Amino acid sequence: MSDDAAPKAKNPAPSGGARRVLIVGGVAGGASCAARLRRLDESVEIVVFDRGPYVAFANCGLPYFVGDVIADERALLVSSPERFQERFNVAVRINSDVVSVDPAARTINVLDLHTGSSRTERYDVLVLSPGAAPIRPPLPGVDLPGVFAVRNIPDSRRIRSWIADRRAGTAVIVGGGFIGLEMVENLIHRGLSVTVLEKLPQVMPPLDPEVAVPLMEHLIAKGVHLHLGDGLARIDQEADGRLIVVAESGASFPTDLVILAIGVRPETQLAKAAGLQIGARGGIVVDAQMRTSDPHVWAVGDVVEVPDVMTGQDTVLPLAGPANRQGRVAAESIAGRATQFRGIQATAVVGVLGLTVASTGASEKGLRRAGVTAFEKVYLHPGHHAGYYPGARPIHLKLLFSVPDGRILGAQAIGLEGVEKRIDVIATAIQFRGTVHDLAEAELCYAPQFGAAKDPVNLAGMLAENVLNGDMPVADWLQLDRTEALVVDVREPDEFAGGHIPNAINLPLSQMRERYAELPINRDIWTCCGVGQRAYFATRFLTQHGYRSRNLSGGYATYLAFIAVGRTL
Ligand code: FAD
Repeated sequence: MSDDAAPKAKNPAPSGGARRVLIVGGVAGGASCAARLRRLDESVEIVVFDRGPYVAFANCGLPYFVGDVIADERALLVSSPERFQERFNVAVRINSDVVSVDPAARTINVLDLHTGSSRTERYDVLVLSPGAAPIRPPLPGVDLPGVFAVRNIPDSRRIRSWIADRRAGTAVIVGGGFIGLEMVENLIHRGLSVTVLEKLPQVMPPLDPEVAVPLMEHLIAKGVHLHLGDGLARIDQEADGRLIVVAESGASFPTDLVILAIGVRPETQLAKAAGLQIGARGGIVVDAQMRTSDPHVWAVGDVVEVPDVMTGQDTVLPLAGPANRQGRVAAESIAGRATQFRGIQATAVVGVLGLTVASTGASEKGLRRAGVTAFEKVYLHPGHHAGYYPGARPIHLKLLFSVPDGRILGAQAIGLEGVEKRIDVIATAIQFRGTVHDLAEAELCYAPQFGAAKDPVNLAGMLAENVLNGDMPVADWLQLDRTEALVVDVREPDEFAGGHIPNAINLPLSQMRERYAELPINRDIWTCCGVGQRAYFATRFLTQHGYRSRNLSGGYATYLAFIAVGRTL
């Protein structure tokens, strides 16, 4: 828990003169730490080193610079060395690579990348915020001209020039995660034809596969060629300089450029050489105040391991929000405050060609991996605002919660409108250790063009409450092939004729009161409809008439998603 009390004894004690705080890395975590520390303590000397030519630039904006959505590179520069000096009295040394740390002498060695000279700098406190480097797999061809990763402004500039100089018309993006998909959007925006090569059978690996289906359909509809379930084997170069991406299956993709976006790895070389403790996930181990195993060294951002509040396990999470907050926590700790970092819950959003994809907390596959079994889930597909007001767009939402206490474990959503607002509400509820009852009760904005009297967040909470209190027992989609239950589709006959679960029988809700006796009383009944609502009504009716009925949550829309991903998780 954070504690904004007045500064306590500063830690560690000055070694004579002004306390020297050196910060390695001057972007998200490092810049936040420097600025916050100055606001708390006018007496310390603060020096930031970055090996790049800029400080505090917007790495999250880089894909949009490549896509020419952000046309002027200067817009990416959130601050400058001059501004840091003038506003915060923080010295920034750019083009300065910190090549080693001597923890015993409390010094760092800095290589000036312009002059080639190096010098030693003394510290009382060292903060490491070197970030994470894009993974370049050791495969033939990954260093060929035309193969890029996106980490900084010079990278983006090189990609822009390559596209312009070669009049590039095609690109292969290796990796279908956040950065890969942002690059898809921006290269399509530049008019390129884009192929995504992804080793998993889905894009957006943090999502459960069935939730990613509308995203994959959207990408295909926008002309993106998805090549899933196949890894990169090598990249060849033809005589004319064009590249050929060859997949493990042997499939090959001629292309003008390749973007490697298969993830990032914490930059721990300095930390390892300095003997700092490294965790099982490859990040620097820190305590809740971001202090490393060396009491004079703090570390923040993509380079550290922090606890995942949902699973309790330490993890690495390369996102800007946590890096900024950790920079602030480290500054407070250095200034003698007891502020603590609470941990991460992986709240994230990405926009892909008009579609918004957002998630918070645990996924179902993450829970299963962590050995958590006492949970349930509901699927729903409500409009982003009242259906009677023109333009309502569905939000495909999955909510995971623990049983029997109803604590919210995670949510994932996809849609054209209003997605991130719902995930942000649920993320906030998770921060306060909220339950599905809190979501059902949440009082949210409503006017027809913004939401509904029962907002999708309320509906998700209400559905989950119905599961918990037994009003709406849910059936497990993954058991559909194995169940002895009778699947009863309660849609109208014309809807049933348009597509239904094999072996399902059709008994429309509109005829249920007259015809329910046709159903076998001694057999489990799984009800299904379009999105789950009519099946819920049918389940309520049937259980009150002595039947053992369960709802296939999310209805036929969710069934189609499971079919699309081979009924797996
Ligand atoms: P960084 O911000 O990467 O800063 C590290 C700095 O340290 C770098 O400038 C590096 O040059 C410097 N450095 C490293 N080693 C040394 C050394 N030895 N000596 C001197 N300097 C060194 N996150 C989101 O939440 N939302 C997004 O939309 C989003 N989009 C992204 C898009 C792209 C293309 C990228 C690359 C990242 C994106 N991220 C996004 C992630 C986010 O930018 C990072 O999580 C965040 O910047 C991490 O902050 P950091 O301080 O740990 O590292």
